[in-house]
Amino acid sequence: MSFTEEIKLFLSRHHYNRVNPRAALIDMDGTLYDSMVNHTAAWHKMMLGLGVKCNRDEFYLYEGMTGAATINLLFRRAFGHEVSPEECARLYKRKTELFAEMPPVEPVEGAKLVMEKIMERGWERVLVTGSGQSSLINRLPDDYPGLFRDDMRITSHSVKNGKPHPEPYLKALELAGVKPWEAIVIENAPLGVKSGDSAGIFTIGVTTGPIPARELRRAGAAVVFDSMESFAGEFDRLIDAILNTSSDSNVN
Ligand code: CA
Repeated sequence: MSFTEEIKLFLSRHHYNRVNPRAALIDMDGTLYDSMVNHTAAWHKMMLGLGVKCNRDEFYLYEGMTGAATINLLFRRAFGHEVSPEECARLYKRKTELFAEMPPVEPVEGAKLVMEKIMERGWERVLVTGSGQSSLINRLPDDYPGLFRDDMRITSHSVKNGKPHPEPYLKALELAGVKPWEAIVIENAPLGVKSGDSAGIFTIGVTTGPIPARELRRAGAAVVFDSMESFAGEFDRLIDAILNTSSDSNVN
């Protein structure tokens, strides 16, 4: 499989002539860490305790939203109202505590290899996460040495609108000092993919959990890999294809 058709489809959807990556904007949960099993379990446990009917897998679909957005979505559905900002903060703290009680989280298999390849290219790197939980963010320098400078991160504290809104990735572009066609996004979840694609960025989806590839494509992923290991194996071929593919149409 060559990537040319997928790249051309992306170029035509966004009316670009070509993509010339100089920055990688990278999601954290489910992309760098296999943390989604613990996140979904913590959300499920807390919400059931509050009398909110829900099933564990649905939380994969909310991945990328801020904690406040997730809480209010479920409260609207269950009780017909949102919660106050104070209550929201209390509940999110509770969810964070439940998350901390879960078994240790490990880096996603193959993610380190992908990050090394990105660093070899000399691109800027920006962390773009809907999470406000410092426990994982603080581990990044140990698990991914040199990947992100301290000022190169967008978290739930940096934005008014979380994923799937384009704001997190638009802000990340600003941080990196590049245009949308000069970056790639790496995401594992539909809302994150939608955020990246809505910001006009070539978004690479990696299925690291139970969400099928078609959901990531539907959300706007230009290319989808079934694991970080397969992404690592195809990385150079994909980037070369991106650099060598231009739109057929005259967009002048
Ligand atoms: Ca994610």
